[in-house]
Parts: sequence; C-alpha cells; structure tokens
Amino acid sequence: MGSQFVIWLTGLSASGKTTISLQLATKLREHDFKVELLDGDAIRNELSADLGFSRQDRREQIRRVVYLCKLLSKNGITCIVSVISPYRDLRNLAREEIRKVSPFIEVFVKCSLESCIKRDPKGLYKKALSGEISNFTGLQDPYEEPLSPDVIVNTDSETVEECVDKIISAIKIREEPVSL
Ligand code: ADP
Repeated sequence: MGSQFVIWLTGLSASGKTTISLQLATKLREHDFKVELLDGDAIRNELSADLGFSRQDRREQIRRVVYLCKLLSKNGITCIVSVISPYRDLRNLAREEIRKVSPFIEVFVKCSLESCIKRDPKGLYKKALSGEISNFTGLQDPYEEPLSPDVIVNTDSETVEECVDKIISAIKIREEPVSL
C-alpha cells in the first residue's frame, strides 16, 4: 500500500462535492500528491452514458467508479470521488472493495435540501420539481445519510476552505506516513 488514498465525497446534488473536491485537489497537489478527480457527472458523460438513475443503474455506476479508483490507487494516485452515492449499502460495498488496495475516507457533504434547492447551480432541482426529470435524489429518490462517515462537513455553515481543512485533518489522523 502506497501513500495514496481514496476520498469519497457523498451528498445531495448541489451540496458542494465538486467545489470542495477542486480545492482539495489543489491543496494536495501543492504537497506533491498525484491526484485524480472522479466526478459523477463527468463519469456519467464519458463512461456511463448508458446508465440512468434507477437503483440498478446507480449500482453499476458505483461499480465502475470503484474499478477506476482501484486502477488509479494501484499506481499511487490519490482519488477524490464526488458522487451523490445515495445508498448506504452501495457506499459500504465501495469501501470494502477499495480498502483492499487503498485507505478509504468517507466524507459526508451535508447540506439542507432547502439550501441545495436555493443554490441549484445546474438548474436540476427546478427541472425535478417541475417533473421534467425523475428519480431525483432528495426529491423523488431517497438519500441515505452516512451513519459513521470519517468526516462530516456542513456546507450550510462552513466555508469551502473550512471543509477542505477538515478533510485534510482527517487524512493526517488516518495516515501517519502522510506529511501534509
Ligand atoms: P455538487 O458537486 O455536490 O453537486 P457543486 O459543488 O456543483 O455541488 O455546487 C455547490 C454550490 O454551492 C456551488 O455553487 C458552490 O459555490 C456553493 N457553495 C456555497 N457554500 C459552499 C460550501 N461551503 N462548500 C461547497 N460549496 C458551497
């Protein structure tokens, strides 16, 4: 096992996963980590255009993301994964699989549904509320909150910087050899 790790950010759409991931990646790269971002939207566009948002398709999406994480981890690359991953059992499966090759840090990006709807950076809640899209997590589909994540960041009350610092602190505690 090298000094890489997998940081898995889970939370509602618009909770802040991508925003936090980008800043976290910048910070880790400043410390000479090789980092790859695995963003749910990008992966759906590039690799999973065949998948929708049924539970079965979400499971398949997670399986593909896990496979990518394992490939990258085996080559010493730290993965920052930002995927809604609403089902607890599928996140647990991801953890068990990834832990075979790399430390796994689950980050719950917590944000009230009201704030997410207000932010709506991609206009998706508007579409879901008007019935234009279905199976939308938090509205028609469930989001199962993590029961014991390694880190909880609350983007309703914490700045992006504070969230990133919290995740870095958790990495430091988890991984003694990592010098940040
Ligand atoms: P997700 O990837 O979870 O769908 P995004 O990062 O794309 O979410 O969007 C989150 C939105 O919320 C962005 O417009 C971001 O600027 C805003 N935001 C406000 N406060 C925070 C915070 N503390 N952390 C992260 N994002 C925040």
